[in-house]
Amino acid sequence: MSIAVRKELPGISTLVIKIGSRILSTDGHQQRLARLAEDIAALHKAAIRTVIVSSGAIAHGMAALELTRRPSLIPLQQACASIGQHRLMHRYEHFFSRHNIPIGQVLLTWDDLRSKKRYLNLRNTLFQLLDHRCIPIVNENDSVGVEEIQFGNNDMLGAQVALLVHADLFVNLTDVGGLYDRNPHGDASAKHIPVVTAMSAAIRKMAADVRKEISVGGMATKLKAAEIVTRAGITALIGDGFDQRLGDVLLKPEAATLFLPEQRKMSSRHRWIAFTGHSDGVLTIDDGAGTALLKGGKSLLPAGVREVSGTFKPGDTVAIRTLGGTTIARGLVNYGSEEINTIKRCKSSEISEKLGVKRFDEVVHRNNLVLL
Ligand code: GLU
Repeated sequence: MSIAVRKELPGISTLVIKIGSRILSTDGHQQRLARLAEDIAALHKAAIRTVIVSSGAIAHGMAALELTRRPSLIPLQQACASIGQHRLMHRYEHFFSRHNIPIGQVLLTWDDLRSKKRYLNLRNTLFQLLDHRCIPIVNENDSVGVEEIQFGNNDMLGAQVALLVHADLFVNLTDVGGLYDRNPHGDASAKHIPVVTAMSAAIRKMAADVRKEISVGGMATKLKAAEIVTRAGITALIGDGFDQRLGDVLLKPEAATLFLPEQRKMSSRHRWIAFTGHSDGVLTIDDGAGTALLKGGKSLLPAGVREVSGTFKPGDTVAIRTLGGTTIARGLVNYGSEEINTIKRCKSSEISEKLGVKRFDEVVHRNNLVLL
């Protein structure tokens, strides 16, 4: 069985669908979830592996506690998530069991993705679930998520999951049909943008960050999530999961904005370095080194490093910045911060004299470096 989709979409074998809180919690959410489960079951039948990234835990907890506004107190939000998460899963269980599809719950914080070991474990779990024809349902682990390990919103989480499972398509379902040149909620003459071929300042400007009572991210974070996945070679759709069916979001240009991917296909390792791993420090490099990285496809040598900030050890991730302050790359270092401070601006032939030993010629080898 094949699924009718927009002509610009790639062949889909793995799909990540992020479902926003309003779809899952405001009036009519039962019907919307029933329809979504039906549409996802059709994809499942067509052998498309699907991962759901679901918001709505806090909203369901708010309903249980009869709170009409999202609490500003973090512990109360966490309590709401704790109450709401299993209620939400109960709903998914109810609707997917109608189609005989098992579901699996996965709750994550940034820490789980930034640790290489946990990242790989998580990938194994998701692949096992998919191999066994289950639908993983992922949410932020809000009840443990203090600020520094929170995603902040599920748009970023959705993008990370799409990178992790090497999705062909990331669908971000919200309550509007994608990107408009103005905020469509306040302006009926706002014009819908069906396709974005490349991100630009003009596109970002359209996504004025409109915050709602229930959900966290506005269009700006959805755009950021689309930008991350498209840079890694994944197609993205931001579409209306509120009034439209999923099948229409995939098929009809008026129901969604499609973001075409960049041509490059990144390996898992490079995706992790570029978009997931935490930067443990920053290396500021001179113009010559900048050109060598950007244009020459070269490694970063000690001679090009001007400044080191942060404390890190060999194997850690650093951001690589120009003297003008633009981050142009991220990479895994061969030397720790103290060592790089000692060998910066030196020729590679001087490394052994300065450090007593030379383990590598490069500070960051090209294979461990990703241009942004
Ligand atoms: N993780 C939050 C929840 O399930 C949602 C965050 C968001 O709305 O993006 O309630």
